[in-house]
Amino acid sequence: MVNEGIRDDLAAAERTFEQSPVTIEKGLDVDDPELVQLRRACRLLAAGSHLLERGYYTVVIESSFVAIERSIQFRLIHDGAMAPEEIISSHRRLYQRGAEAGLYDDRFGEELAELWNQNRTKTYYRLGIATEEQAKAMYQFATNFHQHLISTSRIKYECICEG
Ligand SMILES: [Zn+2]
Repeated sequence: MVNEGIRDDLAAAERTFEQSPVTIEKGLDVDDPELVQLRRACRLLAAGSHLLERGYYTVVIESSFVAIERSIQFRLIHDGAMAPEEIISSHRRLYQRGAEAGLYDDRFGEELAELWNQNRTKTYYRLGIATEEQAKAMYQFATNFHQHLISTSRIKYECICEG
């Protein structure tokens, strides 16, 4: 059983999600759904950079994948290939949608899905543990792919990544 203190913490956390926004994260205080996706990707990459320095490789890999997915979602909404309220629940489906929208070819989309699958089976079930090499390669790929998707959009100036 959990104690009263933990129950109170849960209730307090719930209340913060129910009330109207008070102090919004700077940089994410945008209304446009495509910008929300874009800026979340920027932040995930910034977080990944810090975590890479700390040697937290598994989280770097996870945040890189999420950054990639947010960047694709940004472009799908931006290009009118996805409604902002639509939820694409499968990773593979999201990568496919990117290919269908012409962001990359089918083969690239399949390779993305394959990479995601490999990471999930290997790092999650400890058949292999995340390595520095994987984390660095994933972070590099996510950063460059993000930049590519942003720079080929009409609003590249909205990216808040540093450097
Ligand atoms: Zn960015």
